[in-house]
Amino acid sequence: STAQANTVEAWAASNPSGLAFIEGDRRLTWAELNEKANSLANGMAAKGVVAGDIVVLRTQIRIEWPILSEALAKLDCCLLALNWRLTPTETQYVLSNSRAKVFVCDDEDPSALLPAFDGLPIKLAVSIDRPAPGFVDFADLLNASAEPARFANSRPPLILYTSGTTGLPKGVAKPPIESDPAGIEYLADVARTRRGEVGGVNLLTLPLHHGAGPSQVWNAIRLGNPTILLRRFDPERALQLIQQYRVTNWVGVPTMYKRIAALPRAVLDSYDASSIRALSVGAAPVSYELKKWIIEYFGPSVLGEGYGATEVGMISYLPPEMQEKKPGSSGLPHKHVDISIRGSEGRELPRNRSGEIWVRTPLTIHAYLNGQPLGPDTLDANGFFRVGDVGMLDDEGYLFITDRAKDMIISGGVNIYPAEIEAAILRHPDVQDAAVIGIPDDEFGEQVMAFCELKPGHTASESAILDSCRDHLASYKRPKKLSIVGELPRNTMGKLLKRDLREPFWKGKD
Ligand code: ATP
Repeated sequence: STAQANTVEAWAASNPSGLAFIEGDRRLTWAELNEKANSLANGMAAKGVVAGDIVVLRTQIRIEWPILSEALAKLDCCLLALNWRLTPTETQYVLSNSRAKVFVCDDEDPSALLPAFDGLPIKLAVSIDRPAPGFVDFADLLNASAEPARFANSRPPLILYTSGTTGLPKGVAKPPIESDPAGIEYLADVARTRRGEVGGVNLLTLPLHHGAGPSQVWNAIRLGNPTILLRRFDPERALQLIQQYRVTNWVGVPTMYKRIAALPRAVLDSYDASSIRALSVGAAPVSYELKKWIIEYFGPSVLGEGYGATEVGMISYLPPEMQEKKPGSSGLPHKHVDISIRGSEGRELPRNRSGEIWVRTPLTIHAYLNGQPLGPDTLDANGFFRVGDVGMLDDEGYLFITDRAKDMIISGGVNIYPAEIEAAILRHPDVQDAAVIGIPDDEFGEQVMAFCELKPGHTASESAILDSCRDHLASYKRPKKLSIVGELPRNTMGKLLKRDLREPFWKGKD
């Protein structure tokens, strides 16, 4: 199929002056996007970049990203979207594990990354913002001819590294979804349920090193819709952009919505967000309280929740009209997805019973990048993948996620779900955010330890918060210790980094 790689070329021909991407006061029309992607592809080819090379993009959310992604599609190079916060050591791990050949970054000090290339076959390093020894300037590559550069007919796989909230990051090569018939149907289903429509305006605030960001960009390209990019999330700036550009679609993680909700009432009331037609929230657990707030502020029929994972793609979706009918649910599986809830011995459990979530989708990987094929405890003979979450399906097939299996605490042989304890702590009026982990215990194996953040200006004591849990939790679930912290560690997708909380307790014990 040639459809996808040619989409930008098609819009450049049919709607050359239409806006494609906007970031601050920089904007790209479809014609400009196509022209720059051609120049960049020619410039990179002149530097020895060839089809099949893996190209690492370590950038923030910025207007160069779609130029790069379209140039790489033309060159038939795999785009490896890397978190720009990774240290040189972490970066080196990904470069070496993926066997990448080209590296593009927008670091303030690109030279600090040179040690990451040690001993690796990096043939081209590009710096977007700052000239640096060992790096070619992005602007120079753009000086190449804008002659149509198309060496490939479909978008090659996108490579992502899982966020590593539980261990070493692992590479996932997402199949070139548009060249797979099952993939196209799947994508159309996902787009329909998320109400991607021609004529919409997107606001993009999701990092581009995770599945959701690139898919929002490529979905907008497919539909020919403009996308407004916000490099660093700021809640008031997001509202400003929604008002200014009459934004119709926005996908945010819970933390972003929480930060909007925390704005003073007068600020919230001063913006007009009535252009919004479809909002999506996901990537981390979303409380029903937060959903109620979003619905109250943005309107009753716009909010959907999505649940997915890098290895399998989108899993389930709860549409706006079901939010109040199924509080706490993450929705129904997409049309091409099967969910199986399984007990510890691997047998499928009946409805309304909680167990590990296994899913089958047309996009599930069979091995991590350059890794062994997945074994039966991760991918079974029928194509079901173990996601690493615990949940249940109700009588009507709606999914309820209980917790991450990896975060489950086993104390005295009993399973304890941190999410339930966190919800109990959050009922205390002074508490803003909570995280519960298991720490070593000589007698029980693990014991429950809680961390929480207070709302600004609130002063509840640790013992008062612990006491407040008594009414909501059986004694074996109550935290034995609680510590108030300034800020809980979360990554750019708003996922709690429980590994960071656990580490000091488990050092040398795991
Ligand atoms: P790692 O595998 O390295 O620990 P990760 O599990 O966070 O990282 P991702 O693929 O980025 O990897 O995220 C998928 C996970 O995000 C899911 O397994 C689930 O725990 C969580 N998640 C995604 N969407 C939702 C949602 N709507 N509600 C609750 N949790 C969600």
